[in-house]
Amino acid sequence: MLDRLAQQQCLSWKQWHTLLTMATSADRQYAASMAFRLTRAIFGHQIYYRGIVEFTNHCRCNCRYCGIRKGNAKLQRYRLSSEEIVDACATGYSLGVRTFVLQGGEDPWYTDERLVPLIASLNEHFPQAAITLSLGERSQESYKNLYAAGARRYLLRHETANPSHYRQLHTQSQSFWRRMNCLYALREAGYQVGCGMMVGSPGQGMEQLADDMVFLQEFRPEMLGIGPFLPHHATPFHACPPGRADLTLFLLSLCRLMLPAVLLPATTALRTLLPRGLARGVEAGCNVVMPSMTSQTKGYALYDGKVVTQNLAATLHLMEEEVVTTGCTLTSARGDYGYESQPESENPSARMTLSCEPCE
Ligand code: SF4
Repeated sequence: MLDRLAQQQCLSWKQWHTLLTMATSADRQYAASMAFRLTRAIFGHQIYYRGIVEFTNHCRCNCRYCGIRKGNAKLQRYRLSSEEIVDACATGYSLGVRTFVLQGGEDPWYTDERLVPLIASLNEHFPQAAITLSLGERSQESYKNLYAAGARRYLLRHETANPSHYRQLHTQSQSFWRRMNCLYALREAGYQVGCGMMVGSPGQGMEQLADDMVFLQEFRPEMLGIGPFLPHHATPFHACPPGRADLTLFLLSLCRLMLPAVLLPATTALRTLLPRGLARGVEAGCNVVMPSMTSQTKGYALYDGKVVTQNLAATLHLMEEEVVTTGCTLTSARGDYGYESQPESENPSARMTLSCEPCE
C-alpha cells in the first residue's frame, strides 16, 4: 500500500483506513525513509525557516482544545502594535528570515483597515520576504483585501474533515462548512493555502484520520500543518492524553508521499512532545521549521509545555543544531510552493505523475 501511495499519491478511504489501522513499526520506518528520500530529491538538503509573529492572543472563538480560547478568563491578553510587529520582522530579517507568518487568534480588533497598511508596510520594508497570514476565518472580501495588500500565503487548519468530529472540538457558533468554505475562498483569492489537523485530538480515531487524508488528497494544499494534540490546563480537554508521536510522524510521512511538493513543517508541538522532535520530523519528510519571533516575552500558549527559547537567534541556533543531525541545514530562502517550475534536470521528482488514478 505504501508503494502504491508513493507511485500514485492517492488511496481510497478504505485503503487509508487499513493503512492507518494496520501499520506496524516497520511500515512507519519504511514510510519515513521513502518520505525523507523524496523530500531530498525535490528540495535538496535545505530546510526552510519561517518566523512567526504571534501578534494577538485575543480570540472570539472557544475551540475546546485551545489555551487562548475566549473562555480562558485567567489568560493575560495582549496585542502588538504595528510598530512592534515591524520591529520583530526587522530582527527576523537580519537573521535571515524571509517568510513572516503573522499569526493570531480571531481578533476583531484587527480589521482590514488596520491590517492592509501593516501588510503594505511590511512589503515596502522587506520586499524580498513573503508574508503569510494565520488569522482564522474572515470574509471572502477580507481575504481578497489582504491579498491585494501583498499577503500571498494563508494558514487555516481544517482541524478535522469529519463534521461530527468538528462539533466535538468546537462550539455551536462554529461551523464545519464555514471553515471549509473559507479554505476554498482563500484558494480562489489566489493564496497558497495551508490546512492541517492535530493528531490524537479527543474523539479522533482512524476513521476520522482517513477522512482527513481523503480531504487532503482532494484539496491538495500547498502547505500542511500536522502536529500532535497537546492538552492545555485551562480547556475542557485538560485531562485528555496527548497525541501519539509515532502516529504523528507516520502521518507526516504519508502526507509527503501523497503531496510530494507540499511545504511541511516539523511543528513546535512535535518538538514539545518528542526529544529531537524537529529532527524526527525532518527524518519523516518535513522541510520547514517555524521559530517564533515573539513568544519569548508574550503569552501565546495554545497548549501546555510549549518550548520557549530566550530569543530568535538562540532558537535558530538550537534548531540548526538539531537539523544538522539529519544531514540537512537551515536555509533563509523564501521557499515558495511550486517545484514544478524548476528545471527537470535539477529536480527529478518534478517528472512524477501528480494526478490521482482511480483507486480500487
Ligand atoms: S484555535 Fe484559533 S480560533 Fe480556536 S480558540 Fe484558538 S486561536 Fe481562537
